[in-house]
Amino acid sequence: MATRDFYNVLGIPRDASPDDVKRAYRALARRWHPDRNPDDPDAEQRFRDITEAYRALSDPENRARYDRLGPLYTEDGRPPRPDEVGEMLGGVWRNIFRRKGKERGEDLRYTISLSLEDVAAGVEREITVPRRVRCRTCAGDGADPNGGKKTCPVCKGSGKPTGTRLFRTDCYHCDGRGYNVEKRCPTCDAEGRITLDDILRVKVPGGVATGQKLKLAGKGNVPRGPGAPGDLFVIVNIAEHPLFRRRGEDVLVELPLTFVQLALGADVAVPTLEGRTTIRIPAQSPPGKVLRLAGRGLPKVGRSMRGDLHIQLVLEVPTELDASQRQALHEWADGLAPSQHPRRLEFDEAVRSRDS
Ligand SMILES: [Zn+2]
Ligand SMILES: [Zn+2]
Repeated sequence: MATRDFYNVLGIPRDASPDDVKRAYRALARRWHPDRNPDDPDAEQRFRDITEAYRALSDPENRARYDRLGPLYTEDGRPPRPDEVGEMLGGVWRNIFRRKGKERGEDLRYTISLSLEDVAAGVEREITVPRRVRCRTCAGDGADPNGGKKTCPVCKGSGKPTGTRLFRTDCYHCDGRGYNVEKRCPTCDAEGRITLDDILRVKVPGGVATGQKLKLAGKGNVPRGPGAPGDLFVIVNIAEHPLFRRRGEDVLVELPLTFVQLALGADVAVPTLEGRTTIRIPAQSPPGKVLRLAGRGLPKVGRSMRGDLHIQLVLEVPTELDASQRQALHEWADGLAPSQHPRRLEFDEAVRSRDS
């Protein structure tokens, strides 16, 4: 199957003589030889296309067959398979010819690191993103503004293809632009775009979660040729917090307390996402109990309601007791009646009942 119009590839009319074919091939093969274009990623494909076109058009029998069959031409002469014909009528061909020119630029990703406090309030951040933008010197065409462009000798500047009308495409020698770059733009070296550190503002709404993507439309790379820029995706990463753990919109904090605070009750300062507050621990609070501060958690994205702050009471047993402290604890414990530890009492009875 011929994926390109061979006459267009060689830049010759359909009635070109065998000598014209040879001349065009020699000139183009020299121009596009990969050894002479080490920096051009397209050169190798161009060279292959030129060689393929020459093989077809330099042989009188092949050329006659190509003239008859157009896109259905096969190099080895086999008839095209039905699926290939179907493909040709479908989208594949259109895609082949859309390859050049109006492509969209690449999308970019940037990871932003946030604290839970940022998530609670929502933040606006300035980020520096290296991205490719249009070269201002050449306005993106890659040519030196001082006479770097030369009208395409094949299409004479029209951008239209030579050759058969079975293939609807652009002039192969200038990609339909009508000119070729003779002198490269000194700023971008014919790339048509330059990389710069772009400073962008990102608005992060409250309540976002790790892995969430924020899209900045059009802030990706511009493409090499004409076409729209890609998008920038800012990916949220929320750092682990030394105090708070997240449970959806709720936030959990463990509050270490002494036995005395749990037994007698106390007013204790606790951290919140916005600062701190004081809470009252009721007397005789069991360790593990959770106190709830309603509406002090995280917001739901795009909503005004907030989750809760859960404060879990944790008993911290004192370390490194000295002799007199141990003595004091023993004396205190001896003074307690068994009924003052009702769970303990019940448990002991349950254990005893299993003795029989
Ligand atoms: Zn042209
Ligand atoms: Zn430039």
